[in-house]
Amino acid sequence: MNFTYQALPMRVVFRLGAIAALPEEADLLGLRRLLVLSTPGHEGRAATVADLLGERTAGVHTYAVMHVPVEVARRAVEVARSASADGCVAVGGGSTIGLGKAIALELSLPIIAVPTTYAGSEMTPVWGVTEEGAKRTGRDHKVLPRSVVYDPELTLSLPVALSAASGMNAIAHAVEALYAPDASPIVSLMAEEGVRAFAAALPAIADAPRDPAVRAAALYGAWLCGAALGATTMSLHHKLCHVLGGALNLPHAETHAVLLPHVLAYNADAAPQAMTALRKALGADDPALALYALSGQLGTPTSLAELGVGEEDLERVVEQALSASYTNPREVTPEGLRALLQGALHGQPPVSI
Ligand code: NAD
Repeated sequence: MNFTYQALPMRVVFRLGAIAALPEEADLLGLRRLLVLSTPGHEGRAATVADLLGERTAGVHTYAVMHVPVEVARRAVEVARSASADGCVAVGGGSTIGLGKAIALELSLPIIAVPTTYAGSEMTPVWGVTEEGAKRTGRDHKVLPRSVVYDPELTLSLPVALSAASGMNAIAHAVEALYAPDASPIVSLMAEEGVRAFAAALPAIADAPRDPAVRAAALYGAWLCGAALGATTMSLHHKLCHVLGGALNLPHAETHAVLLPHVLAYNADAAPQAMTALRKALGADDPALALYALSGQLGTPTSLAELGVGEEDLERVVEQALSASYTNPREVTPEGLRALLQGALHGQPPVSI
């Protein structure tokens, strides 16, 4: 067994009502002037956080946008600067935490993340900014949140459809962590357990979306899958989602949900250890088919066509995906990629090509 494992320095507080711990988290980090971030439409939640933080609140900025457009990032940096903020509290999904990271990248301000979806950005040192239809990403430890407050209560309002897609997004992190070139035993344990948690929690959420216990089970999965994402290098699946998101402005979580079974089927024969772990986690002989069936059961989109992708878009995606170098357990060929995308476009059951 050969591996290198680098633990990421961060603190995690996980409990129902954990949001009440925010003042203590701020004090532990010595932060006195926090900028509270959220997406539009969640001003009420941002105000609650600002009230909780009291005199530690330097401002509230509720303009986070998916994929962090560069002008949105610049404006937020200006707001943080003019408020003399010494840190940010990002309360929301990956878009809000992404905006916090864009500020941290520029101003080196520590982030306290309060995730309200299952995207997992809170556990990673990965930032991303979109400019002229292309998303630039990078790794920098100064954007890794210093403290993560997981409060299942904040996820009760996440619509069932979005919960399901966001859960599939998280499962995708775990799947690619299991066959990553820098996989390690502890991360693989977390990834397998994360998939197991979601496989049980997502159907339970569809039945009882306001049950805090099932929401806690899903958020536990999000933590595990996010940690697996933060610790490893992602492969073809994340590359394709990245290309599709940047080139066609597709919804992030739904794109992950559609592509995951197809990429897994493509990689299956080249990733036997990952497949063994996924068989155990999903309790199924064919993990790709099981994930496709789970998507169908949850009602998340199963075809790229449902997301607005047309036949004419595929060649651009193939070109962009092949032009960058990235790791993958199986060689990515133009024919293989075309066949994979055709299957995903039409929502066919995943097959090993
Ligand atoms: P999001 O943050 O855009 O949230 C989706 C929608 O759900 C938004 O309208 C938001 O306001 C709403 N929402 C969020 N939480 C809610 C709740 N509890 N109740 C009701 N509505 C709620 O989407 P996302 O899928 O969480 O994040 C996607 C973004 O995160 C993408 O830009 C992606 O690239 C990025 N991301 C980055 C990383 C990383 O490591 N850097 C990891 C995962 C995702």
